[in-house]
Amino acid sequence: MKKVVKFGGSSLASAEQFKKAGDIIKADKERKFVVPSAPGKRFNDDTKVTDMLYECYGIAESGKDFKAKLNAIKERYQEIIDGLSLKISLDSEFETIAKNFKDKAGKDYAASRGEYLNGIIMAAYLGFEFVDAAEVILFGENGEYDAEKTNELMRERLSKLDAAVIPGFYGAYADKTIKTFSRGGSDITGSIVARAIKADVYENWTDVSGFMIADPRIIYKPKSIDTITYRELRELAYMGATVLHEDAIFPVRSEGIPINIKNTNAPDDEGTWIVESTCQKPKYVITGIAGKKGFCAVNIEKDFMNSEIGFGRKVLQAFEENGISFEHVPSGIDTMTVFVHQDEFMHKEQKVVSGIHRLADPDSIDIEADLALIAVVGRGMKSTRGTAGRIFSALAHSNINVKMIDQGSSELNIIIGVANADFETAIKAIYDIFVLSRL
Ligand code: ASP
Repeated sequence: MKKVVKFGGSSLASAEQFKKAGDIIKADKERKFVVPSAPGKRFNDDTKVTDMLYECYGIAESGKDFKAKLNAIKERYQEIIDGLSLKISLDSEFETIAKNFKDKAGKDYAASRGEYLNGIIMAAYLGFEFVDAAEVILFGENGEYDAEKTNELMRERLSKLDAAVIPGFYGAYADKTIKTFSRGGSDITGSIVARAIKADVYENWTDVSGFMIADPRIIYKPKSIDTITYRELRELAYMGATVLHEDAIFPVRSEGIPINIKNTNAPDDEGTWIVESTCQKPKYVITGIAGKKGFCAVNIEKDFMNSEIGFGRKVLQAFEENGISFEHVPSGIDTMTVFVHQDEFMHKEQKVVSGIHRLADPDSIDIEADLALIAVVGRGMKSTRGTAGRIFSALAHSNINVKMIDQGSSELNIIIGVANADFETAIKAIYDIFVLSRL
C-alpha cells in the first residue's frame, strides 16, 4: 500500500500541530509522500502565512520597506523550527526571498514561499527528501497546469525516491516562473502526487472529521458524511460546499484512487471517503445539501414556443453574446426561464433583454432577482421513491415558496430555487426531514 498524505494549513500552523502531523506519518509506514500547506491560523484571529506573504509582497511591489513584514513571517517559521528542536536555518532562504521581492518576482512566487519553506521544515523533521514543486508541476502558457506532462515529470522523479515531501499549491511555467493554483490549491498537489505514484489512498488531513451533510453555519452540528462519490462531491462543491478544493478530484479520479478526508486533531475518526463508486448504502437518502444565493431568473414567454424550432438557441445566444453563463434552464410549453448569477447579469441585463427581443421575438420578458439555488444531492435518491415529495412537503410546511425545480436525469440531485430570504429555512427544513426525522 502507498499513501499520499496532504496536511492543510491549520494542521501545520505551529510546532505542536507539526508534531501531530509527524506522529500521524510515523504511525503508518505507508505514509511516504507528504504534501504540506503553508502554516495556517493558530487561533481564530491569526493570519495565515499565505496572506502575510501576499501583503508583504504588496508592500514590496509599491516600493516601500517590507522588511518588518518579512521578519514577522520568518518568526512564524522560526517558532516552528525551535519548537521541533531542528538544527536548520532559513536565513539564506529569506535573503533570497527578500532579493526576489525587491526584484518583483511576482505575486505567485511570493505566495508559493509559504508552502516551499514549510516543505523544507517538514522534510528536515521527517528525514525525507525535499522535492521542489516547481520542478515537477508544469503549467502551460494558457495558465492551466499541464496534467499529462506533470504526471510524467512527477512519476519519473518520485519513482527514484523512497519517501519525499512535495510542497503544495504551486508549480512553474516552462521558463521556471512560479505559478500557483487558486487558493486552497495544495489539495490539487496532493491529488497530482497520488496519481503519479499510483497511490492506494490519498489522505487529506484537515481540522474537521470529514464533510458535513450541510453547512455548519446553517445547521447546528450537522452529521458527517461517511462515503461520497466523486460525482456527488462535485455537485456539492459546485454549489458552495467547501473542505476540499473543487478541482482536487480530477487527478485521482482518472486512476480511481479514493480520497480520505481526516482530522489531524482526531486521527482515529474515520473521516469521509470520497470514492468513484460504492455499494455502501448511504445512511440517509440524501448525501448532502448545499446552495448559493444571488441568482436571477429571466422568464421568457411566447405563445407556441413549444413548436418553434431553435427558440431556445436564440434565447441562449443573447446570453452568450454578452459573455454570461447560465446555471439552469427549466422550460414549459410557452415559457422558458434562464437562471444566471445576479452579479454577472446585473450590469448587462438590458443588453441581454434587447438581445432576446432581437433574436427570438418573445411576447414578454420578466426578470426576478434575489433568488437562491439549493442542491439536494444523493446517489440514494435513484432507488428511493418519494424523495421529491418529501422535499416539497417539508418546504411547504415551512411556508417556503418554491420558484424552480430541476432534476437531472442522472437522479443524483434535485435543484430547487427559492427566494434568498428563504435560503437558510429551506436548508433546515430539508435537513430535518431527511436526517433528523429518519425513522
Ligand atoms: N496556502 C494556500 C492558501 O492559503 C494553499 C493551501 O493552503 O492549499 O490558499
